[in-house]
Amino acid sequence: MAVLVQKFGGTSVADAEKILAAARKAIRAKLQGYQVVTVVSAMGHTSDHLIELAKQIDPEPPAREMDMLLSTGEQVSVALMAMAIHRLGHRAISMTGAQMGIYTDSTHTKARIRSISTDRIRQLLDEGNIVIAAGFQGITDTADITTLGRGGSDTTAVALAAALRAETCEIYTDVDGVYTTDPRLVPEARRVSRISYDEMLELATAGAGVMHNRSIEFAKRFSVPVHVRSSFSDLPGTIISWTPESRDVPVCGAAAILKEARITVRGVPDKPGNAAVIFSRLAARNIPMDMIVQNVAAGGRADISFTVFQEELPAALRVVEETAREIGAEGVTYDENVAKVSVVGLGMAKQPGVAQRMFRALADKGINILMITTSEIKISVLVQRDQAVEALRTVHQAFELHKEPPSVAEESRPEVVANDRERIIGRLHGMEDLVIESICLDETQGCVTLSEIPDRPGLAAKLFRQVADRNIVVDMIVQSVGREDKAMMSFTVPQGSYEEAMTACQAFAEEIGAAPPTGRPSVAKLSILGTGLKSHISVAGRTFQALAAAQINVEMISTSEVRLNVVVSGDTGRQALAVLRREFAPELIE
Ligand code: ADP
Ligand code: ASP
Ligand code: MG
Repeated sequence: MAVLVQKFGGTSVADAEKILAAARKAIRAKLQGYQVVTVVSAMGHTSDHLIELAKQIDPEPPAREMDMLLSTGEQVSVALMAMAIHRLGHRAISMTGAQMGIYTDSTHTKARIRSISTDRIRQLLDEGNIVIAAGFQGITDTADITTLGRGGSDTTAVALAAALRAETCEIYTDVDGVYTTDPRLVPEARRVSRISYDEMLELATAGAGVMHNRSIEFAKRFSVPVHVRSSFSDLPGTIISWTPESRDVPVCGAAAILKEARITVRGVPDKPGNAAVIFSRLAARNIPMDMIVQNVAAGGRADISFTVFQEELPAALRVVEETAREIGAEGVTYDENVAKVSVVGLGMAKQPGVAQRMFRALADKGINILMITTSEIKISVLVQRDQAVEALRTVHQAFELHKEPPSVAEESRPEVVANDRERIIGRLHGMEDLVIESICLDETQGCVTLSEIPDRPGLAAKLFRQVADRNIVVDMIVQSVGREDKAMMSFTVPQGSYEEAMTACQAFAEEIGAAPPTGRPSVAKLSILGTGLKSHISVAGRTFQALAAAQINVEMISTSEVRLNVVVSGDTGRQALAVLRREFAPELIE
């Protein structure tokens, strides 16, 4: 009998009436012939209230006790949901994470699932029960309760769907699907009929709170189709699978993280290893770094800027300030009023000029871009927080996301992907392990850097317009805050366009009063391809560290869930490739 996993989020089980409505949906699926597992979140804002309560006692409560506390929220809902199903005349049994055998690592409050033992659940399903599973929680092999991170019930649901080889995982929530951006922030947002795993993964990490990003890692890793739909209607929602909605539009969605903070470590002695120390210390404290940009070294020193979630700023500053002193950096500055706006789309990789279109639209609204990072299917900009919602709406409009795409993609799931997946999954030790698919080297590009750019809205748009006018295709772009309110920008171009790009930049620098451009006609870009490259927060630090140990300096980096790109000097490309393969994918070395 086919298994169906359904998940109801907090608002969908906020009171007794809603619990009964959710129970009816579960019963209906059972009557349609499915074996049903229903995952539930804590009721309404229970988790928020529990966190608030804990903070009244201790502003930084012990993580183990937080998990003990937070897991109670879901325990209440599973019991009530099972009661509701009984009341409606059907068999149901509630289970905590521990009872289901959801084993995790011991990273309290952000634990990762290692394994799920499905025997008990299968037995209960075979006995005719609807199994009501507590979302968001697990247990370590020393029997400590853990939680998976905010929003983690989605991950429980998709992980159970994977482990039980469910036909589909249905995510019932308070919107009727995945929208082109958060409809609460941008009312013109449009529901998409489908979206690919990679796009959803990037959007979720970029701030689209409708799905927990790690749930999409599971979905992709184990090919679980996810159907996001409304708890309050029977309308079809959005299917998350291998197939995008359209292959022709450059951007499928936009997202924002409204509460980011920027940290800059100034005057880091420019030798391989210094950046690595900073990043690996943050990773060791479980503090994820988001955008990362290194400014070119001046006088043997470099500035390194990165962003963290605003709530992690105090902890991040403690680590960074101590590390900065140790490595002899000049100091640390930060800005806690910034936000990140991103656009995502598989189609962007094939179309030039997407970044320029985004920068132009922002410039036209007078929105200043503080930092930029780009990767093949995502462009992110950092802006002042009070301009973030306007920036999100602006990019939504610029890419006409409110309109149906002109052509809809055919459903597809290449067989070769399926076979590759089996092989990759066979190598995993834990269900949530990092998946590395390949590591490759591109030796065809050069890199141009502009520094001391006056920090005014519109300059990025202007620069890339002039570059585009010369038919130069730009690949990676990074921009960061420099000193005295000046910005610095680097971008890569095909080697054949390098001279032309330098000429364009010279003219641009003169026009706007920036320093003359510098560049390297040949750089090496290394790409690590996989799944979860950002949510596994140690990946960037390990990349820096492995390269530093081989005395290779990282000149540019961009991180995304499905791809991490680093640029190093051209003559070190092959060595860097060997280093990264050894670090991340020894089994890929022939
Ligand atoms: P649940 O409690 O069901 O897990 P969440 O609050 O976690 O619900 O997620 C649903 C919310 O996600 C929506 O109400 C919406 O405001 C927000 N959201 C953010 N980005 C998107 C998006 N791209 N599409 C749909 N909803 C989004
Ligand atoms: N209750 C948890 C939270 O609020 C998990 C979830 O809802 O997904 O974060
Ligand atoms: Mg949620």
